[in-house]
Amino acid sequence: MDIAFSHTFANELDGFYQSCSPEKCTSPRLLQLNTLLAEELGLDHCLLEGEVGVALFSGNALPDNAKPIAQVYAGHQFGMFTSQLGDGRALLIGEVVDGTGTRRDIQLKGSGRTPFSRGGDGKAALGPVLREYLVSEGMHQFGIATTRALAAVGTEDWVAREDLKPRAVLTRVSASHIRVGSFEFFAAKGEWDQVRRLADYAIDRHFPEAKNSEDLYLQFFKSVLRKQAKLIADWMSVGFVHGVMNTDNMTISGETIDYGPCAFMDRYVPSTVFSSIDGHGRYAYENQPKMGQWNLAQLAKALIPLYDEEQERVIQRFVDELDRFNDCYETFWLDNMRAKFGMVSKDKGDGELVKQLLELMHQGGADFTLAFRYLADVRLDDELKFKSQFNAVVNLDDWLARWAERIERDGQSPEECADRMNTVNPIYIPRNHKIEEVLDAAVNRNDLEPFRMMLSVMSEPYSYKSGHEEYAEPSPANAEPYITFCGT
Ligand code: AMP
Ligand code: MG
Repeated sequence: MDIAFSHTFANELDGFYQSCSPEKCTSPRLLQLNTLLAEELGLDHCLLEGEVGVALFSGNALPDNAKPIAQVYAGHQFGMFTSQLGDGRALLIGEVVDGTGTRRDIQLKGSGRTPFSRGGDGKAALGPVLREYLVSEGMHQFGIATTRALAAVGTEDWVAREDLKPRAVLTRVSASHIRVGSFEFFAAKGEWDQVRRLADYAIDRHFPEAKNSEDLYLQFFKSVLRKQAKLIADWMSVGFVHGVMNTDNMTISGETIDYGPCAFMDRYVPSTVFSSIDGHGRYAYENQPKMGQWNLAQLAKALIPLYDEEQERVIQRFVDELDRFNDCYETFWLDNMRAKFGMVSKDKGDGELVKQLLELMHQGGADFTLAFRYLADVRLDDELKFKSQFNAVVNLDDWLARWAERIERDGQSPEECADRMNTVNPIYIPRNHKIEEVLDAAVNRNDLEPFRMMLSVMSEPYSYKSGHEEYAEPSPANAEPYITFCGT
């Protein structure tokens, strides 16, 4: 099959990657193909469902015009700088321009060792591949910027993790794979020409409008900051905890990337941490905006030396922008929250009203997703489901009265209001205990049906599907605290 691959990154950014071939897999088989995404990319999904797809998505036989490369980057991991990272288990095989004219990267993840693998095997296990597939596609259905999953391939090979696990390969699609850490790699070596080349490429690809600015790199920085503020505000609105917000896992494009030990919270607890490696809670739910800003400070450090002027003055300009992150984030967050709370107009008391309910949810142990979903029913005179999300300690009546008074000022009918709220408050999220069930079936029983079923439920997260109530339920109250592992 002819895929119109292009290679702007490889052609324009010599020195930013190493060419590398995928390691072959034994008896690959296509486990899942994202046919809608394939269509979006202009690829013939009927062909991809056959041998052509298996050869491509396993990396066993890439088309002649593919050009597999491993990109280099550095990164601050949990605050500590590592000067040499890079695609240790992923290969960018080419770019395609989608139906909207947007250039997208196609990358194999788990395709074997690369020059940047360090001690790792370069491979991926089936569980984490399916997990990333489910969670990234769920994220997309929420309308949140994310890398996408195009295909998952299973193999008859094994990878050594805590024990032996079946090997799989994920094909992921992204607006690009340029990370904050990509800039840090060259900045740490003082290679400012390379930083400039990368910035110019990223501006061309992601923020061409910045080229009209007299202050090009500051404008670029502002654009990245805005995208990240929006992204993190979106995560917060669905209770998502990324888990490893290291600078090598933060994209310039503003897409969520690198679904490792991430998870959605059930009960609303702002200090929620899932990752086994995040002992100090650096990347806890409530810290994500602050950590986003911290990462952006690392990007600023890499861009400031691109200016010839007196550095003090340039630093001040970047710091001023960085200081605006909070306001920018809060604005996006409040817009999201207004929609979740059924507010149409903007009132200066809205933030306070939102925070009061969040506080009650925290005190009352409410499920983050269901509390919002059932708030809409309160408009339709059904308070029971909403109130049953809270333990008996909290009294919701005062707050509900204030909320009703606020909502009524917008003049929508109760039905209109509830319908509107139900388009932004999902009923289904990829809940941890369901993901675990699905992965257990796939990995231990070779049964992919639960995975496909969950994917199908997640494809319409805002509509009730009868018979699928179990996907809406939080894990049982007595479940062990959920912990995710990075062995991805
Ligand atoms: P992550 O935490 O997934 O963002 O990965 C951090 C770094 O470790 C990246 O440079 C990855 O390419 C690398 N890495 C993670 N897992 C492996 C593996 N199995 N083999 C080689 N490199 C890996
Ligand atoms: Mg990563």
